[in-house]
Amino acid sequence: MVKIVINKETCIGCGLCPTICGEVFAMGKDGKAFVKAHKDIPCVKDAIESCPVSAISEDGIKKK
Ligand code: SF4
Repeated sequence: MVKIVINKETCIGCGLCPTICGEVFAMGKDGKAFVKAHKDIPCVKDAIESCPVSAISEDGIKKK
């Protein structure tokens, strides 16, 4: 289980992350990206590395 976090203060709305990983990221009406599904798939890492302002991070969550 992962939790993917987008820092909306930092996101410049470039649209790259939904292009790279559309299963996880989408663009909101506010012009910023949001996480539509927390999935542990390889393109998440690609999106994290490609975001020009490093607005995306990923945390491991341990469930009880
Ligand atoms: S790649 Fe980064 S800056 Fe671009 S839309 Fe996604 S979170 Fe925002």
